[in-house]
Amino acid sequence: MKVIEHLNKSKSTLFSFEILPPLKGQNIQSIYNAIDPLIEFKPPFIDVTYHREEYIYKKLGNGLHKRQSIRKRPGTVAICAAIMNKYNIDAIPHIICGGFSQDDTENALIDLQFLGVENVLALRGDKVKNETSFTPEPDGHAYTTELIKQIARMNEGTYLDDQLQNVAQSNFCIGVAGYPEKHFEAPNLKSDLKYLKQKVDAGAEYIVTQMFFDNAKYFSFVDQCRAIGINVPIIPGLKPITAKSQVNNLPRNFHIDLPDDLVEALEACNSKEDIKKVGVEWGIEQSKELIAAGVPCIHFYTMSRFGSTYNILKELV
Ligand code: FAD
Repeated sequence: MKVIEHLNKSKSTLFSFEILPPLKGQNIQSIYNAIDPLIEFKPPFIDVTYHREEYIYKKLGNGLHKRQSIRKRPGTVAICAAIMNKYNIDAIPHIICGGFSQDDTENALIDLQFLGVENVLALRGDKVKNETSFTPEPDGHAYTTELIKQIARMNEGTYLDDQLQNVAQSNFCIGVAGYPEKHFEAPNLKSDLKYLKQKVDAGAEYIVTQMFFDNAKYFSFVDQCRAIGINVPIIPGLKPITAKSQVNNLPRNFHIDLPDDLVEALEACNSKEDIKKVGVEWGIEQSKELIAAGVPCIHFYTMSRFGSTYNILKELV
């Protein structure tokens, strides 16, 4: 079932999760271990992130280095199929522009269509490490709007090869990312929102936000979206804090702010357990306010750790 149908059908706030594929060489059981405890909260869908190649430099032993491409977390599509098969829950693969030609994208979408996947979260992806800025493939997409347009064309039965006859239309529900604290490359939030509207106008049916820790930022973002005519559901994304290092890592990696009260509470902690407790309490308070405001769904960035998300949800349902 499509995400938009889940959202339209539900009368109360839903809870969805985002996981990442295990490191190459690990077993898929680690994914099931992360999902199993969360099934009691009846997630309508589970997102699976996509991780493009990285480049490492291997020593050759003669003073020279060899540049080698590796993918540390392959398996997004297979994990989606496994989740749908094992749990009968919709799985949303993330599909990115980076590293994909238009032909690669079309073939990836055909794989998903044949597997019965009806949803995708369309993203640009970040630059590859060692590059100064995001570089699309020569025939790839520079921005997510272009990727959405390709998916929307397939939904209408238009493939890259216009000689194809009697083609099957795909039927993907497309989600996109939104940034309450703006995307780090955007000159300002107004500009970022203009491009977010382009994504929706191109065919995105819902938005999932980057994580935030101050609900006021989400509410203001939603207001600003509505003011410029973005009328699709905007799903808030929450991440439970589980480690003290995240006080600095989350702002650095995701270009977001942590509120003073949260930073002070985390800095006062003396043990990992205390940190997790603060993270869970903050997540409960954020969730309660969002639910009271009538959000259609709360999306938890569970990644491979389910414990704190479980403890938050236990207090909510
Ligand atoms: P876009 O919407 O293309 O925007 C990128 C930047 O370009 C923004 O600053 C925007 O304002 C600007 N822009 C957009 N269109 C134009 C235009 N036409 N002209 C000029 N400027 C423009 N990354 C992964 O690699 N794998 C994942 O699985 C993944 N999952 C994610 C899930 C969520 C919910 C979120 C919030 C992010 C995720 N990311 C993932 C990270 C994402 O790929 C990065 O944040 C990326 O830098 C931007 O992606 P986007 O789709 O928002 O890009």
